[in-house]
Amino acid sequence: MPMNYNNAKELIEKSSYITIVGHINPDPDTLGSGLGLWWVLKKLQKRVDAVYVSRPLPQFLSWMPGFDKIKSAISDKTDLIISVDCGSFDRLGIDIPLGVKLINIDHHQSNSNYGDINIIEPEFASASEVVYKLVSISKWPMPKEAAENFYTALVSDTGFFSYEGVDKRVFEFAKELIEYGVKPDVIARNLKENEPLSKLRLLPLALQTLKLYLNAKVAGLEVTQKMFEQSGATVNDTDDLVNYARSLATVEVGFLIREESDGSLKVSLRSKNYVNVSKIAESFGGGGHVRAAGYTVRNITKDNLVNCLLDKITKEL
Ligand code: 5GP
Ligand code: MN
Ligand code: MN
Repeated sequence: MPMNYNNAKELIEKSSYITIVGHINPDPDTLGSGLGLWWVLKKLQKRVDAVYVSRPLPQFLSWMPGFDKIKSAISDKTDLIISVDCGSFDRLGIDIPLGVKLINIDHHQSNSNYGDINIIEPEFASASEVVYKLVSISKWPMPKEAAENFYTALVSDTGFFSYEGVDKRVFEFAKELIEYGVKPDVIARNLKENEPLSKLRLLPLALQTLKLYLNAKVAGLEVTQKMFEQSGATVNDTDDLVNYARSLATVEVGFLIREESDGSLKVSLRSKNYVNVSKIAESFGGGGHVRAAGYTVRNITKDNLVNCLLDKITKEL
């Protein structure tokens, strides 16, 4: 057994109160990885909480098993924290109580190894596969609800098996989850045909901002606070908007700039074939994956942000 997996297994088995945490603005991978592990540890008779600090939680994911058990704060009884799908400590949005150990389970190539134990698999398409590997080699039980969460995480982070990095291993993981009782069509319907009206109302407002740059190899979209007010949408409704920018035939890099309620600007980057957007995001203090990354900036105008970003992209095109 690889050493970091073995150390994590031993620490988890001897801990008495475990808290699982994910990244801020939780997506299906951080929720599915965390809630899946929550079901496994419950089955192991552990005292365990799943804590996600962002509010509002993405209600369109409320069907994920265990969603209704999510807590917003870390119990002072906690003696071990496990983070899932989070590349940098600041994106957890939490403080670690004194003396509490942290296990960092992730798949971001930009992960900064902020845990006492770090299990990082940059080749894996979703964090849920890393959690599943720990569960399998530890020979822990796998309830059906855990498999459903892991599968939701997997299909979301692979764009339903369509992104770069989808290979035989990903399908083998999916097959094993199906053997634990996952119904792929049910999860696909829950993920794809369960949209709030506010999200569809936001779409035309955002698409109207589309701009092309650098011989139409780059496309940018914007979401403003005013659009949130007009549509009734929240940050949880913006997750896949950036894919519209990337979907254009000529485009290699798509980006989305989202105005946050505190005045900061959140940038999402996506590339199609060859630009390493994680490298670009890291140069602005963010991170992510080769084809999907992001960062947040403050005290800068949008025009300035776009100019700085296009400068970096030009070097990679
Ligand atoms: P999104 O654009 O959907 O927010 O994020 C794309 C990917 O980049 C995700 O894997 C996400 O975790 C990562 N990411 C987004 N923003 C940041 C950031 O500010 N810092 C880091 N380290 N990763 C980010
Ligand atoms: Mn994520
Ligand atoms: Mn992920």
